[in-house]
Amino acid sequence: MEKRYFNKEIETMGREEMKALQSERLVAQVKHVWENVPYYRGLMEKKGVTPDDIKGIEDLHKLPFLSKADLRDQYPYGLLGTDLENCVRIQSTSGTTGRRVVAFYTQHDIDLWEECCARAIVAAGGDKGDVCQVSYGFGLFTGGAGLNGGSHKVGCLTLPMSSGNTERQIQFMMDLGATILCCTPSYAAFIGESLKEAGYKPEDNKLKAGIFGAEPWTEEMRRDIERSLGIKAFDIYGLTETSGPGVAFECEEQNGMHINEDHFIAEIIDPDTGEVLPEGEKGELVFTSLTKEAFPLIRYRTRDITMLTRERCSCGRTLVRMKKPMGRSDDMLIIRGVNVFPSQIETVLLKEGYTPNYQIVVDRVKNTDTLDVYVEMNPESFSDVVGDIAGDADKLASAMKTMLGITPKVHLVAPKTITRSEGKAVRVIDNRKLHD
Ligand code: ADP
Ligand code: ZN
Repeated sequence: MEKRYFNKEIETMGREEMKALQSERLVAQVKHVWENVPYYRGLMEKKGVTPDDIKGIEDLHKLPFLSKADLRDQYPYGLLGTDLENCVRIQSTSGTTGRRVVAFYTQHDIDLWEECCARAIVAAGGDKGDVCQVSYGFGLFTGGAGLNGGSHKVGCLTLPMSSGNTERQIQFMMDLGATILCCTPSYAAFIGESLKEAGYKPEDNKLKAGIFGAEPWTEEMRRDIERSLGIKAFDIYGLTETSGPGVAFECEEQNGMHINEDHFIAEIIDPDTGEVLPEGEKGELVFTSLTKEAFPLIRYRTRDITMLTRERCSCGRTLVRMKKPMGRSDDMLIIRGVNVFPSQIETVLLKEGYTPNYQIVVDRVKNTDTLDVYVEMNPESFSDVVGDIAGDADKLASAMKTMLGITPKVHLVAPKTITRSEGKAVRVIDNRKLHD
């Protein structure tokens, strides 16, 4: 089968040519920021760097970092790169980890963002014959707007559903024959579960692919969703600060997400020292935008932990790939001195045959951290005849001990007792913060 790309020239461009394009764009972007964003210019001056020092991507490391704290501090207009009258849109973060950040867009910025999403849809097998159901939230959140625009660019028949009202999602999906579903992975799992409850089998829907992102999800969760919806599930990554979803997207290989390097340069740094790490090493992902007008970002620290690879991809794309981020550095829980990522708990649960409906509660009792994991029993194993629930919980706790190094208290609860997510799932409740 002939390989399909949205922008073949860029997506399969040779490395040297791409580096030249990035260099040219970086020089222009740094100049743009220097001239228009006094705050970042101040950071550069403090480091003793001027645009003259930046001749190409090899000089990137000379530039200062920008952090989420800078963005919050400069809220709302402090990092604007153009007159407000040139801007046509504002989007905002979901505020998962604190005060919201607002991002601004010119029409040019929206076009490039939507093209990034269009590349993701084509990589997932989409074309103009597809019916694309966009069930990410619409509004300030970037998910709905980004994929909706991308779907238009591809020429799909677009269903701007937004999230929520799951019954109607299912009705439209079935009546209108949606072939591609875009939403958060936790909502995809919920839709899969609801379809089953409504009496549908995976083969009853016309879906062939799903484009799921905006939150961390494990390979086990991917397989679970693929089974329940009868599709191939693709990962997509992005953040409001860099425009939204589509900064990176998965291809048919389903093995890491290609970064749209003509618009963003990715680096991996040691989060403690700021030192740039070589390809293949795990660290904090840092992005530099190359083409943005309204909200350009130089060396923005995402706090997402991942690694990059330039290994050849069978899809033919030459764009660097990032591995699935296992969560943000601030998602990492430190419990009794041990580092725990919620995604590790998810992996164990799904491997042990449970559903991806869980909640993690952390607390401190008498100066000792406690870790409680609430997990739903499967509807099949949940019956009036109470089985060996205690035994099952112990088995799960010991599987988690093997993965995490510490033993959580596992609570098996009745099906449907954990709130389903229509957007980004809230997996962790950390009550320790209340006592601090
Ligand atoms: P907020 O920071 O309030 O959640 P955003 O909606 O901009 O705001 O979310 C961006 C963040 O979502 C990323 O920094 C990352 O942590 C997470 N994210 C987005 N896509 C993915 C993905 N495919 N896998 C894991 N995490 C993701
Ligand atoms: Zn690929």
